[in-house]
Amino acid sequence: MSAYRLLFFCFAILSFTVGLGAEPTPAKRGTARETRAMPEEPGTTFNSVHVDGPYIAMTFDDGPSATLTSKLLDLLAAHHIKATFFVIGENVAEHPEIVARAAREGHEIGNHSWSHPNFGKMSDESVRRQLQQTDDAIKNATGKRPTLMRPPYGSITAREKRWIHDEFGYDIILWDVDPYDWKRPGPAVVRARILKETRPGSIVLSHDIHPGTIEAMPSTFDELEAKGFKFVTVSELIRMATARPSHPSPQPSGVPASATESPSPTPSPSSSQGG
Ligand SMILES: [Zn+2]
Repeated sequence: MSAYRLLFFCFAILSFTVGLGAEPTPAKRGTARETRAMPEEPGTTFNSVHVDGPYIAMTFDDGPSATLTSKLLDLLAAHHIKATFFVIGENVAEHPEIVARAAREGHEIGNHSWSHPNFGKMSDESVRRQLQQTDDAIKNATGKRPTLMRPPYGSITAREKRWIHDEFGYDIILWDVDPYDWKRPGPAVVRARILKETRPGSIVLSHDIHPGTIEAMPSTFDELEAKGFKFVTVSELIRMATARPSHPSPQPSGVPASATESPSPTPSPSSSQGG
C-alpha cells in the first residue's frame, strides 16, 4: 500500500514539474528557422502577407523629419497612396504636427521605439519604457494608440515578441523588401531594388529621413502603379490576408486563415541594419 502511495506521489510530482515546465518551454523556440517550421504564433509577426490581389504596403521608418516627411506626404497625397510610418518617439515629440497630418490624411502610424535602440540586447524594462513613451507620444499627436510595432533593425527575440504582443497588443511588422536606402545608394538604386523585389503582399521598407529615398519615390510610385500594384496600409494588408496555398506539411489546427506568416527569416542586427 505504501509503495502504491509512493508511486502516486511520484506521479503527482512529475505532473507538477511538467506543468511548470510548460510555461518556459516556448522561450527556447527562439530562432527564425524554428518559426518557419512551427508557426506557433500566427498573426503576431509579419514579413509579408499572403493576399489575393496586387496589394502592397509601403512603410517609412525613423521619422518624422521636418522637411522630408512633409514632402513625402505631399507626394503620397498626389498619388492617393496610403502608407505606414514607423515613427521614432523622440521625433514625434519634436514634430507632433507632422504625425498628426499623416494620420489625418489616412496613413497609419506605428511604434518604432523612442530612440532606436537594439531591443534584442535590452532588458524588458528598458524595452517597455521605449514602447510606452512612444505609444504615449503617438496618442498625444494623433489621438490614437498605435496597433503596430517595428523593432529597430528588425532586432527582437522570440520571447520579446510574445510579451510585447501580450502587453501592448501590437502586431510586429518586419518587411520582405529592403532597398538598403539607409546606405544612401542613390535614388535610381533604391527604385530599382524596390521594383525588382516587390510582389503582391509585400511590406516595403524605406526611411523618410534620407533625401535620396524621397527623391526615388515619385518614379517608384509611378512604376509600381504601372505594374498594377495597389497601396494599402499595413493593417489593411493584414486584414486582407488569405490562407497560403496548400502546403505539403499540414498546418496545425487552430491556425486562423488570416494569420499567415512569411517564411523569410527575421532579420537580425548582424545581417541587416534596416528598419
Ligand atoms: Zn529604424
